[in-house]
Amino acid sequence: MTGGRHLLSGGSERGAIYRRLGVEPIINARSTFTILGGSLMPAEVLDAMRLAADSFVDLVELQAAVSRRLAELTRNEAAFVSGGAAAGLFLAAAACIAADTADGTLRLDDLDGGRRRFVIHRAHRIPYERAIELAGGSLVEIGGTDGTQESDLRAALEPPTAAVIYVPKAHLASNVLPLDSVVRLAHGRGVAVIVDAAAQLPPVENLWRFTAAGADLAIFSGGKGLSGPASTGLIVGTARYVERLAANASPLQRYGRPMKVGKEDLVGLLAAVEWFLAQDHEALAMRYEAMVDHFIEWGRERDDVTVTRVGFGEAGQPTPRSHGCLDGATTGTRDDLLRALRATPPRIDLLADEANGFYAAPETLLPGEEEIISRRLAELLDRAAGRGGAVRTRRQ
Ligand SMILES: *Cc1c(COP(=O)(O)O)cnc(C)c1O
Repeated sequence: MTGGRHLLSGGSERGAIYRRLGVEPIINARSTFTILGGSLMPAEVLDAMRLAADSFVDLVELQAAVSRRLAELTRNEAAFVSGGAAAGLFLAAAACIAADTADGTLRLDDLDGGRRRFVIHRAHRIPYERAIELAGGSLVEIGGTDGTQESDLRAALEPPTAAVIYVPKAHLASNVLPLDSVVRLAHGRGVAVIVDAAAQLPPVENLWRFTAAGADLAIFSGGKGLSGPASTGLIVGTARYVERLAANASPLQRYGRPMKVGKEDLVGLLAAVEWFLAQDHEALAMRYEAMVDHFIEWGRERDDVTVTRVGFGEAGQPTPRSHGCLDGATTGTRDDLLRALRATPPRIDLLADEANGFYAAPETLLPGEEEIISRRLAELLDRAAGRGGAVRTRRQ
């Protein structure tokens, strides 16, 4: 299509650089999913990264300085930048497994009989647990999908348990033990608590809330709510655990070395945290509500889709989104619609629900994209109905 042309020659409008590669960009109403690129970095982050790329620096010195500043900004004793939240889980697991060794360094050779057990509530299971297994950890599940009893946790905290992994998704598992109970029971047995809060921003207070509740480490994705580099994670916690974690991390040639973080990423994540803290979170919330309202209004005009507001995001964070129910349609019809939305420009990605509907999340939409989505949805629904499709069944 553009054979031989340089990546930067041609237009610089949004998406052009991808189109020159023959990859059509996507309007993301799914939320901050890594598979779609995470989030869009604001100019403040990109400027900082560009400036960071301008000179060499001692990475250990820079890491220490960025960590200190991140700890201050997030009101924590210590902080660290990992190569993504999943890498943060790996490092946290390594730090807990190696907690009893003299220098805190993970040695996979000495794992037998060591502290390798990681307790997790059934309702908290996540696909990223592999990062814990990669460090040599093994997972022990407690409780049911609907909740957990204190006795379940007590029984699971036998030695040699390394840590409890806690995934704070309040709305998804309301009967799981609260974090402060988990901390009390775990600490009583000398076991650490690691909070995987990768997608739990906003609210901004979560940057200090989990550690204030006693968690030893809390991990956030740099590429989700923080709008930083997608290849970064923010770890906050006690100096004791963060130091152990750093002892296993890049640039040291330890097990964490394959998940390295460069100077641009270090500075980029710090700029993202500064940017995030400086946002008018109320104004942002209002912008999200206005986008949700747009879809609700749009749905009122149609007889084939019912749009409602859902008060939380996909990961349970308090960001509203809209839910569209295709009245009378099957899951297959909904899947056809979502596939059609993705197929041709403007390519649009929506999250399917468990039945015949979909969600549209506002936090990854640029202003005006909600209109593009509703217009395109209307076109596709009308076309399906014109062909006698099953989507337009109500009040026909
Ligand atoms: C997204 C996510 C991760 C992984 O985050 P990355 O920064 O992409 O590595 C880990 N845990 C949970 C719960 C997540 O939602």
